[in-house]
This record gives sequence, structure tokens and C-alpha cells, in this order.
Amino acid sequence: MCDCIFCKIVKGDIPTPRLYEDENFIVIRDINPLCKVHDLIITKKHIKSVNEIEKEDEKIFASLFTVAKKIAAMENMAESGYRVVVNSGKDSGQAVPHFHAHVLGGEDLKGKLQGM
Ligand code: AMP
Ligand code: ZN
Repeated sequence: MCDCIFCKIVKGDIPTPRLYEDENFIVIRDINPLCKVHDLIITKKHIKSVNEIEKEDEKIFASLFTVAKKIAAMENMAESGYRVVVNSGKDSGQAVPHFHAHVLGGEDLKGKLQGM
């Protein structure tokens, strides 16, 4: 059995409210928000990190930024601005080895969260 926490959330084994869902992604709120709005765009497919993205996965990632844009609009930060961050591998501090993009905003982030 897969022991990945994000796979469990995707499957519904760990019930977690979804802000958005489509065939490739779910979007949830981060359990430990680093700023006012901190959401996670998570692939439905278990892909460990950017390093494990294969050619066949390109169709999944084609819509990643349009999902980020939708979330920014839903969270009322399209105009004020936001950050989209993807950690990949040990030196980035990636803690959950299942692809996710952080969408951060809702406040002024200039000079903040540089070491996340
Ligand atoms: P990263 O360091 O890029 O791997 O980020 C992992 C993120 O997942 C962190 O910001 C955690 O707070 C978040 N996280 C871990 N477990 C959960 C969970 N069960 N629900 C929501 N967010 C989570
Ligand atoms: Zn997984």
C-alpha cells in the first residue's frame, strides 16, 4: 500500500476539503499556512518531484499555471499578487515527495518566505 500522505488525500482516505478539482489536480489549503493564503496544487498522479516528470506527463503540467490563476482569483489575490513555488528534492527542503505547487499570497510577501 502506498504510504504517501498526498496520495491518501487524493484518494479520499484522509478527508480534506478541496478548493478545486479537475482530472489532473486537486487543490487544498496547506495544514501549516506560512501566510494568509497558502494553498497546494497537488497532482492526482503520484510523481515524486520535478525530477520524476516524464514526457508522457507533459499533458498534466500544461494546465498547472491556469489552475494557479484560477486559485488566485478564487482567493481574491489575482490583482494584489501571489507567488507560485515548487520545491524539488533535498536541498529545496521538499518535505512531501509527491508533486505539489504552493500558491501563496493574501498579504505583502516582498522579502518574506525566501527560505521556505
Ligand atoms: P514541501 O516542503 O514543498 O514538500 O511542502 C509540503 C507542504 O505540505 C508543507 O507546507 C506542509 O505544511 C503541507 N502539508 C503536509 N501535510 C499536509 C496535510 N495533511 N494537509 C495539508 N497540507 C499538508
Ligand atoms: Zn503520492
